[in-house]
Amino acid sequence: MARIAERLASGPTLSFEFFPPKTAGAQLTLGRTIAAVEPLKPDFVSVTYGAGGSDRHRTGDVVTWMRRETDLEPMAHLTCVGHHRDDVASLLVEYRRLGVENILALGGDPPKDGDVAGDYQFASDLIADVAAPGCFSVGVAAHPEMHPRSPDRASDRRHLADKLSVADFAVTQFFFEVEHYIRLVDELSDLGVDKPVVPGVMPIANLAPIQRMAAMNGTEIPKWLGERIAAADDPAEVARIGTEVAIDLAGQLLAAGAPGIHLYTLNRPDAAQRVCAALDLRHD
Ligand code: FAD
Repeated sequence: MARIAERLASGPTLSFEFFPPKTAGAQLTLGRTIAAVEPLKPDFVSVTYGAGGSDRHRTGDVVTWMRRETDLEPMAHLTCVGHHRDDVASLLVEYRRLGVENILALGGDPPKDGDVAGDYQFASDLIADVAAPGCFSVGVAAHPEMHPRSPDRASDRRHLADKLSVADFAVTQFFFEVEHYIRLVDELSDLGVDKPVVPGVMPIANLAPIQRMAAMNGTEIPKWLGERIAAADDPAEVARIGTEVAIDLAGQLLAAGAPGIHLYTLNRPDAAQRVCAALDLRHD
């Protein structure tokens, strides 16, 4: 076991993000994916948290399974939405009992039809409670192209700097041009923040769902990328281009001094395996 903050301190990290499956078939897919990427020895893997409702236990189920069945170091995502301080406290006690040492503390997005009333408004409120016991390495979200609810760039960066004054590191939303990351890190540095900001890299396998996610989280899909993918003849060619673009971007990010690469896997192993092979990211 190792806290992510310590792994970040000892060289560029490799990490993968998964989402908790909802069906038996999707569980088998995730199991196969994890078996395929575990030999790449990522420094940590993260498991997302549902927007609300009855399926939120799935994050805990997946990290518990990982702890029991694999050598992976899990990071559980947790959001503010609908949570009260006492349920967060119980969840954190349970994570401690299971040996989960890393939490990504997030604002979350209010579900269209769910209950959003709770004790937390912003991620910074939740971060304070997650950091308080002193036993978790705490990560936060960063949005290189600004969070869509931020009224301006200065306030976006100020709130992120506030989160990083308590948290240990940030993981970014996906983006497609290295300049967004460099500008983010420079702006944080101007605010006196030098905590690690791990860039999130999304290998595109299918453009339509990525366009939907990008529209929600304020990521621009550059014209050159949209055109390259539109010219592809079949889904295999789209995935090949998406992986090639991710390899290029990850290489540029590492050359720019990024403290690691966080790959959004969408629970599929192929792109993660290819990016790691191309950049020699496998850890021994
Ligand atoms: P916050 O930090 O609360 O910021 C939200 C907005 O409020 C920003 O505009 C910010 O500038 C502003 N703000 C912050 N503090 C203040 C303040 N004190 N006063 C006024 N304004 C303020 N969502 C999920 O539901 N589940 C997941 O598992 C998940 N994983 C994610 C992983 C990563 C790496 C990233 C980047 C995002 C993830 N998200 C996830 C999405 C995230 O929950 C949304 O982007 C959400 O809208 C904002 O989260 P945040 O932590 O940035 O919120």
